[in-house]
Amino acid sequence: MQTTTPARVWQPAAGWQPVSNGSTGGLQAGARVLPGVANLHSHAFQRAMAGMAERRGDSDRDSFWTWRETMYRFAGRFDPDTLHAVAAQLYAEMLEAGYTTVCEFHYLHHAPDGRSYDDPAAMSRALVQAARETGIRLTLLPVMYMAGGFDRRPLGERQRRFGHDVDGYLRLLDALRAEEGKTMRVGCALHSLRAVPPDAMSTVLAALPGDSRIHIHIAEQTGEVDECLAIRGARPVRWLLDNARVDARWTLVHATHLDDAEIAGVARSGATVAICPTTEANLGDGLFPLRDYLDAGGAWGIGSDSHISVSPVEELRWLEYGQRLATRRRNIAASAAVRSVGETLLAGVVDSAWTSSGQATGTIAAGGPGDAFSLAVDSPLLAGAGDGDVIDRWVFSGNRPLVDRVWVDGQCVVEGGRHRRGAEIAGRYGKAMSALLAG
Ligand code: ZN
Repeated sequence: MQTTTPARVWQPAAGWQPVSNGSTGGLQAGARVLPGVANLHSHAFQRAMAGMAERRGDSDRDSFWTWRETMYRFAGRFDPDTLHAVAAQLYAEMLEAGYTTVCEFHYLHHAPDGRSYDDPAAMSRALVQAARETGIRLTLLPVMYMAGGFDRRPLGERQRRFGHDVDGYLRLLDALRAEEGKTMRVGCALHSLRAVPPDAMSTVLAALPGDSRIHIHIAEQTGEVDECLAIRGARPVRWLLDNARVDARWTLVHATHLDDAEIAGVARSGATVAICPTTEANLGDGLFPLRDYLDAGGAWGIGSDSHISVSPVEELRWLEYGQRLATRRRNIAASAAVRSVGETLLAGVVDSAWTSSGQATGTIAAGGPGDAFSLAVDSPLLAGAGDGDVIDRWVFSGNRPLVDRVWVDGQCVVEGGRHRRGAEIAGRYGKAMSALLAG
């Protein structure tokens, strides 16, 4: 397995011109080009409920678990057409924000009553189609989901459309691998330790191709940590490190609640942690121990997860701000070697993109093509920006998206900050939302 990361160049190398799709010229004079950002964790359907779970329930005990009930109700309304429309809107928004790759953690597999569609991969194919239409690079991670808790209780009524037995799940992966191409890969997602019993996990892992990426939700909530301790006798990350060969193919999503030994263990394993700061804040999960993890040399990236925000700027900004609020200090992610917080954060996400997604994302190379975005040089927010502060200004100043053009695999998909098929995609999204909200 290739373990080197693509070289980073913050400015286009001499003579580099992105390949145009015919309707675009070259870059603005003096344009700053940054490597495309990989979004390591997405549940596309949740884009449709963003901002709709912000009203308190009957008690004053709203939590991740009460939010999950709302999410399940919404998840029950999707079919392949509405999923396609919502995913296309989301992926267009991601591209406009500077994300050029998405790792889609996909568990809405079957019809709402749990029966398979005529094509068992119909919902997955809706996501593939949305990625092709928008041009985003997709690592599709069909989710293995078998149980309703650590005690192996059966799936609840609202979870039935998520479930597979091991054979059915492996058949789904096989069917989807036929769709793989230059900008689409298939990996494996284990929903969580609570949803995948140990024997099923071992069987699935043994059946995967050697270079398959493996993503898993882990240690997002303290309740999940306590339950894992009670039933499996270890904290979730400890249990995983002791019971699976965790290496650079793995991405641990959230991993919010880690003790010191787990921090060292994850960092040593080469796995990537996918931190989702805006969703973790929205759900009241807790704060990832960023400084200790960076000191241990751990790999990490970001995900927009529930899509209450679709912006790498906001994820990176809140990753740093959360640490500042907790420690009452500043410039937490930076180090003596790299003093810029923005550069440190962007380098972190670019370095992990290949290992987590399995694709050559975020590259800017002489002669192109690449996955990259340019910043609008004429924005007042960048007035007078130099090499030393342009990334900090992108991450930490203002709220206007500064993305001008975006390329994926050399194809220009966003111009002037707008996706080239944005109007058509938004029109379809509006109709899908009407249908979903009427359901
Ligand atoms: Zn998630």
